Amino acid sequence: MQNKVILITAAGQGIGAASARACAAAGARVIATDVNAGLLTALDGVPGIETRQLDVTDAGAIAALAADLPDLDGLFNCAGVVHHGSILELSDDDWAFALDLNVTAMVRMCRAFVPGLLRQADQTGSAAILNMSSMASSVKGFQNRTAYGATKAAVIGLTKAIAADFVTRNLRCNALCPGTVDTPSLQGRIAAAPDPVQAEKDFIARQPMGRLATVDDLTPTIVHLLSDGSRFVTGQAVLVDGGVTI
Ligand code: NAD
Repeated sequence: MQNKVILITAAGQGIGAASARACAAAGARVIATDVNAGLLTALDGVPGIETRQLDVTDAGAIAALAADLPDLDGLFNCAGVVHHGSILELSDDDWAFALDLNVTAMVRMCRAFVPGLLRQADQTGSAAILNMSSMASSVKGFQNRTAYGATKAAVIGLTKAIAADFVTRNLRCNALCPGTVDTPSLQGRIAAAPDPVQAEKDFIARQPMGRLATVDDLTPTIVHLLSDGSRFVTGQAVLVDGGVTI
């Protein structure tokens, strides 16, 4: 990843923040973005990382950032939201928000940054997009994940379509499908459950290794999929799920 310019969304905490650190440690120049500028201060001073505030649901902000940055070598669309509930608890507003943040924002990010990624691919022979999906998607159904599963399935379709369109141009596009990862958002879902102790046990129970993933279980695969090491890998939904889908 030496000197590759990699933009990461939702890099203020959780998987995005760990990915920013891992890509920078692998030699990349990382542009770490998040809607919450306060969270990004934790990355201040980390060699190889610069931070920019970005709400990925704001089309104007995406266009302005794309115009202001050099052409990217890699784009990691990490931002997403979990809506808890079956279709009976899913309001139109919940659905619209999940679709906007999990899918439409990713469409806008790709549309804004693909021209620059293609220019880089023409020059260097390699550029990569990584889109955050989940094992809860077209891969597997989970209880109370209607909006989440449907929108993360759309991410896989989007990923394959982009991969097909640019397969001859050295621009690759893959989706990451993690299992249950211990992050601030997961801890928030556990805390919001009627019985948080049981909720944590239930999340662990769905992981056959008997533990949650850590962000460090994911970052080697994320670095790989954004680097030239994966130069013959495109259009894939890559599972890092601790064996849930064996
Ligand atoms: P997290 O809560 O730990 O971090 C989410 C980050 O997203 C926060 O920093 C937040 O400020 C940022 N964010 C929220 N709205 C935003 C917006 N509009 N624009 C830009 N940034 C915004 O989350 P996480 O658990 O690390 O999840 C990151 C991604 O991984 C999500 O797409 C999630 O669906 C996916 N994922 C998570 C798990 C898991 O178990 N944690 C499993 C599979 C997939």
